[in-house]
Amino acid sequence: MLKILNKIRKIGVITEPTPSLATDHELDELGFKVKKQIDRHFAGSFAIRAVDSGSCNACELEIHALNNPLYDIERFGVHFVASPRHADALLVTGGVSKHMATALMRTWEATPAPKWLIAMGDCAIDGGEFGSSYANMGGVSKILQPDISISGCPPTPELVLKAIYQLLQSSN
Ligand code: SF4
Repeated sequence: MLKILNKIRKIGVITEPTPSLATDHELDELGFKVKKQIDRHFAGSFAIRAVDSGSCNACELEIHALNNPLYDIERFGVHFVASPRHADALLVTGGVSKHMATALMRTWEATPAPKWLIAMGDCAIDGGEFGSSYANMGGVSKILQPDISISGCPPTPELVLKAIYQLLQSSN
């Protein structure tokens, strides 16, 4: 045990420092604006179901980041849920692969109205890196009309939070 403690003392902290977010303060400010809208119009809870309709997974990593201790989006009342039945909005990543088109449509139909569709990332907007091909239809708008689109490859967590705020503002 002593050996381990000595080793830890000698090596010190080797993890990377957290990125100096200009957003630290801005993020809180934006987050609490989101929370205010959610408290006022959604009884304190806005639920999102994420749907990967053919992404490379990097957009998902940014979605995961929203739930890490740095961003902790849940404190603002935004929750990612497992079922579209519990969702206020769908957050779609990736172009629509032909194999996922029906699943995406069904997920949308299973989401109770009023509902919103968020297209996250360049692929969801117009096919992005994947374009359109025999396997990929291109952007989400090929089958459903997004209420808001977030460009970027991938978009940062801040951009996603900003888009949620814009969506909440425009829908009230
Ligand atoms: S927008 Fe970029 S990061 Fe997101 S799924 Fe497409 S290629 Fe991947």
